[in-house]
Amino acid sequence: MPTKIEWATESWNVVTGCSKISSGCQNCFAERMSKRLAGRCGYPAENPFAVTLHPERLDEPLMNKQLIAALLVAAALSWAGYDMQDRQAELEQRLIQVQQERDQLAWQMAGLEAQIREIQESNEMTIAVTTDLDERLARAERK
Ligand code: SF4
Repeated sequence: MPTKIEWATESWNVVTGCSKISSGCQNCFAERMSKRLAGRCGYPAENPFAVTLHPERLDEPLMNKQLIAALLVAAALSWAGYDMQDRQAELEQRLIQVQQERDQLAWQMAGLEAQIREIQESNEMTIAVTTDLDERLARAERK
């Protein structure tokens, strides 16, 4: 079915509805949409968020030439020994490394900022002491 989702051209909702399983489901967007579309777009009028299979939609992907081409490419890659899941795992691992490096850099930056603050504060103290010394010396000379 054509969709307005910006990163997709088609969507395939052969099952609608869901079962709430955690507190994270409290403000479920899908549930709100199902209630809004109750009685339309395949959502049952009664209990629109109930898990519902739409058998009439099962062969929809067979009408989509692009999807069939993508599935054939995936199958060919799989037959050639190219494991998409391995590649995904590899990319996820690299992402974790990059995030760790970023955290380490942020930690080092925080350390450098603290050192800079310490230096600035000690300079202020030195200036204050020096100013005080100058005044004391001037007073002593006047006596
Ligand atoms: S669709 Fe809604 S109810 Fe289902 S798992 Fe997601 S948040 Fe929970």
